Amino acid sequence: MLMSLKTGPRIKEIHITPIAIVDPPLLNAAGLHAPYALRTIVELVTDDGISGISEIPGTSAIDAALHDSIALLIGKDVFQLNEIRQVLINRFGTDTAAERGETPWDQRKLVHIFSAIEVACMDIIGKVTGRPIVDLLGGKMRDRVPFAAYLFYKYGGAGGELGFGTDPAATGWAAARQASGLTPVEMVTQAKAMCTEFGFQSIKLKGGVFEPQQEVDAMFALHEAFGPDIPLRLDPNAIWKLETGIKYGRQLEPILEYLEDPVRGQENMAKVRQALTIPLATNMCTTSFGDIPNSIRLGAEDIILSDHHFWGGLRASMTLAGICETFGRGLSMHSNSHLGISLAAMVHLGAALPHLTYALDTHYPWQSDEIITAGRFTFEEGAVAVPTEPGLGVELDRIALARLHQNYLSCGLTKRDDQVEMQKVQPGWTFQSVRW
Ligand SMILES: [Mg+2]
Repeated sequence: MLMSLKTGPRIKEIHITPIAIVDPPLLNAAGLHAPYALRTIVELVTDDGISGISEIPGTSAIDAALHDSIALLIGKDVFQLNEIRQVLINRFGTDTAAERGETPWDQRKLVHIFSAIEVACMDIIGKVTGRPIVDLLGGKMRDRVPFAAYLFYKYGGAGGELGFGTDPAATGWAAARQASGLTPVEMVTQAKAMCTEFGFQSIKLKGGVFEPQQEVDAMFALHEAFGPDIPLRLDPNAIWKLETGIKYGRQLEPILEYLEDPVRGQENMAKVRQALTIPLATNMCTTSFGDIPNSIRLGAEDIILSDHHFWGGLRASMTLAGICETFGRGLSMHSNSHLGISLAAMVHLGAALPHLTYALDTHYPWQSDEIITAGRFTFEEGAVAVPTEPGLGVELDRIALARLHQNYLSCGLTKRDDQVEMQKVQPGWTFQSVRW
């Protein structure tokens, strides 16, 4: 029997809602996390009343660009993602490396906007076809997607209204995530609490906060505490000089699964890579398709950390996976502070990747809020089961959305600025792209 072709559904409404979620005082090379992390929730509604949702890092500049794109997108068929992407390129141009910025997080517009629209469209396509998003990416290669414990140096404090204060009623991981994490001993305590709660079987430390020896000592303390079977990673966020990267990289060789962005730029990364025997990973020197040719020419890294928010969506991330396969790069995943809509998208992508040899990054344990009706995702043995419902498999909790939007309006933040937050604690502190 011949089936007739159908068009649509078409985008009828686009709702863009900035939210602020509680975030503890986590330290990184760019400074200090604010008491709230910003996210933007996008909801598309079709002419036949189907809703699709997505979540991206929040900043007023990208929110404004999303608002600018509404008129271009109304009436578009949600299946026509190639056309939608081209319309957005025509409006915003392709992103440049300068737009990405020197901070650990990416500030480019097009990749964020298209990621937001694509994920929401694929949520709708999944609902229309009755298939989970992983099936729209070619189907799942695994039922559970493994994540790594993501340790942060931090001041004592819970974030949100409590700021540097703590909730005395908190127990378990909720209590541990309020604790100070500055010394090697405190980092081991943080790691044990996180791994006990979530079952993680790999551990990453966000470095670039203290002089290198202190961070190397923390890695050896973790190695001592967890033994050789738990893979360890350190991410100094490109803040080390070339000679520092080589010196401390050599010290870390016996205990690291990989070293992430020890130094800044593809040329320096390639030099460190030639000097070390352990793999190098990046979400800072090879961050776009335009960076790939030079990455291959120089041999800048062994592992690229994908991120569908920064690489322009889920299908672009699958393209990246193909490039990595061709050129012998490993692939894993980068993360920022996020809620369950982003996590669902990360899990669908993680399940579809042809090869997954490294547990993915997630900040999710550091968040306490949620914006999906099912509540917070559960982790078993460090992994998240791939949702089996159509689309993303999560639904927007509209009461939580309203509450978290009110947080956004009340907190006064409009973009991430870790330097400003750090200056509140250490007056005069400034971000340096290379410090040690
Ligand atoms: Mg990184």
